[in-house]
Parts: sequence; structure tokens; C-alpha cells
Amino acid sequence: MGSEKVLIFENCRTCSNRCFSTNQVIKEINQLVSEQNLIKKIKSKLPSPILYHHMLRISLSGCPNSCSQPQIKDIGMQAQRIAAVNEELCGGCGECVKSCPDKAIAVDKTAHIDRNKCLNCGLCIKSCPVNAIEELNSGFRVLAGGKLGRRPHLAGTLYSLVGVNELVPIIAELLEVYLVQGEFGEKFGTVINRIGLDNLRKREGEKHAG
Ligand code: SF4
Ligand code: SF4
Ligand code: SF4
Repeated sequence: MGSEKVLIFENCRTCSNRCFSTNQVIKEINQLVSEQNLIKKIKSKLPSPILYHHMLRISLSGCPNSCSQPQIKDIGMQAQRIAAVNEELCGGCGECVKSCPDKAIAVDKTAHIDRNKCLNCGLCIKSCPVNAIEELNSGFRVLAGGKLGRRPHLAGTLYSLVGVNELVPIIAELLEVYLVQGEFGEKFGTVINRIGLDNLRKREGEKHAG
């Protein structure tokens, strides 16, 4: 088995919507899943020949538009850019309202972001002519357990926001869970859903799913 059994979907490299460059983290994830010992271990969990539906699917999207469909992959990552209005700089011009696909911004004297509607795409940050919308934080939402096939299941949110530097160790941890707790022939998504996302979370505080 080569890395062809681990599929990484990524189509954001040149997209103007992406929250930030994901090139380096994709490179690191590719290195992780191409590691021969890991491939050997994953292969040992699966029947031979390994069929298409057995393949481990990992997907990274550069923004919440989720073109690479992280919601239906074993492990999904969705870039996030948290925006915040600096009211001292905001002149109330309304440009940011037009930029928001989710109608999450309203302006009275200054702009306000409705956190219940906002999906953290960061587009409004780019739209403000006076740089009054700032990046509060950025990183990735991590999803796990998605699959199609005979019993489709949407991935759940494992962590709502992890920093870029935390991401690869988290992917490594999830793969380790699969290798240790997966039964022979069990697909990754099935293992994750059997264990439950609550039991998989190891990180504390705001990084937990909301
Ligand atoms: S997920 Fe976002 S960044 Fe990636 S291709 Fe789609 S719109 Fe562009
Ligand atoms: S675009 Fe900038 S200045 Fe205009 S309302 Fe939005 S935050 Fe304020
Ligand atoms: S980050 Fe995106 S969804 Fe949130 S307010 Fe800005 S444009 Fe709208």
C-alpha cells in the first residue's frame, strides 16, 4: 500500500477565498500519512485487497465554504479566521455588510458581528477600506467521523478551533486512536463514531466543540 490509500483532498492553493496559506500544513500532513511505518500499520487493519471504500480520507478546506467536503471525510479540517470590529476605527460605511455571505454583520453607528451567524470566513476583514476589522484568531476547525457509503454520517466537530501548529499532532493522535482501538476491517469513521467525539477530545478550553 502506498499513500494512494490515504486520500488528501485539497483544492484551495490558488483560491482568493482561503483564510490563509495552507501549503505548509498540507505538506506536513502529507509527510505524516506517507510515512511507511504508518501505512504498514493502517494496512494491517484492513482486509486484502484494500478496496476503495476502505481508504482513509483526509480533507482540508481553506475556508468554511468547504469545497473539499471535510464533512464527509474520516478527518476534515476547515480553515477559520475570526474577525472582530475595532469600533474606534469603524466609520459605519457598510462595505463589510456587502462582503458577508452569511448576513452576519449589521451597522448602526459602527459594524457589529452576530457570532451566531458568523462562520469565520474572514472575508469581511479583507473588505474594510480602513482596516477596522481585525483578525482576532485563526486556525482550523477539526471534524472527524464523516462518511458516505451504506450508512452515511456527517462528521462532527472535534475541536472548534486549533492553531496551525497544533494541527498535525492532532491528526497523528487521531490516526493512533484508529490503530490502537480500531478492530480489524473497521473503517476509520466507524471507529471514531463508536468511540464518540466526547471521548476523543484531549485538549481543554475553547478548542472543544461549542
Ligand atoms: S474551500 Fe474556500 S478556499 Fe478552498 S476552494 Fe473552496 S472557496 Fe476556495
Ligand atoms: S467596512 Fe469597515 S468602516 Fe465600513 S462599516 Fe464595516 S468595519 Fe466599519
Ligand atoms: S468572518 Fe465571514 S461570516 Fe463572519 S462576519 Fe465576516 S464575512 Fe461574515
